[in-house]
Amino acid sequence: MNHNTSHTENDKALIFEVKGNSLDDGPGIRTVVFFKGCPLSCLWCHNPESKKTLPEISFDPEKCVGCDSCLAVCPEGALDRANPLFVDRTRCTLCMECARVCPGTALSPVGRYLSIVEVMAEIEKDLPFFQTSGGGVTLSGGEPALFMGFASRLLRKIKEKGIHTLLETCGFFDCSRFMELLYPHLDTIYYDLKLFDPDEHKRFCGVSSETILKNFSELSAVCARDNREILPRIPLVPGITATRENLGSIARFLKDLNVLKVALLPYNPLWLSKLPVLGQTRRTGLSEEWMTGAEIEECRRIFSDFRVI
Ligand code: SF4
Ligand code: SF4
Repeated sequence: MNHNTSHTENDKALIFEVKGNSLDDGPGIRTVVFFKGCPLSCLWCHNPESKKTLPEISFDPEKCVGCDSCLAVCPEGALDRANPLFVDRTRCTLCMECARVCPGTALSPVGRYLSIVEVMAEIEKDLPFFQTSGGGVTLSGGEPALFMGFASRLLRKIKEKGIHTLLETCGFFDCSRFMELLYPHLDTIYYDLKLFDPDEHKRFCGVSSETILKNFSELSAVCARDNREILPRIPLVPGITATRENLGSIARFLKDLNVLKVALLPYNPLWLSKLPVLGQTRRTGLSEEWMTGAEIEECRRIFSDFRVI
């Protein structure tokens, strides 16, 4: 398991976005800090730009006005209109000259090393929104727990301002370090559970579910003791996670731990369009359709049968 903090440089962390005005990542209006890098590799990852622990370059053909300024400045000859992805990432050295001359944001860097001071400056702009809406700051990704030391120092600064904190995690971390460095500064934890079966989890997410389930058991007991919220979230991916067998196993697991509240995250096919922008090919075998209301309801019923709602 990789628990290091090598994705930080001179006490900076690789972050792909600090996004204000979010209504989707916890209570109230929130600023979300998206870390770049994840120890899992879920086939359906909705934030493919957050997976690699390295900066990247994106190219969005819909924003390109065809000025050719980028072609003139690229020192590596990595840009070519004959290339369907436009950028040859095997040649690109990420010098970002092309992004600097691009008049729009057709070419843009994905991921910047930011210091705690820089992240806090972004967060503090939104202080009035937190106060009026009962919102706060969410650390997301990618996987914030991959940046344990940086995230700990950042959360401490945020709490010093009296701001509500929430962390979204895939659960693949060293639990004792999590308890020491992150837990003391968190008000709420959103914890993703994807596939119960260890082999299925490894097949679709790159690692076994064992550590994730064990960490959840430990954390949920501590949260219950401290009256702190931990919300399990289940992504519903048709044919992969959204099966009767998998959801039933997760529901039983939660019921046994006396965790009786869950959030189901219905599949969103829009993420597929992000892949070519990052130079990745579209995945086959994944649904390109939204789930129907009846399909979502069927999944919900599996949990409510266990009194988990
Ligand atoms: S980042 Fe640099 S090397 Fe890569 S495509 Fe742009 S100009 Fe070329
Ligand atoms: S500089 Fe930007 S807008 Fe101009 S051709 Fe390159 S990608 Fe397109």
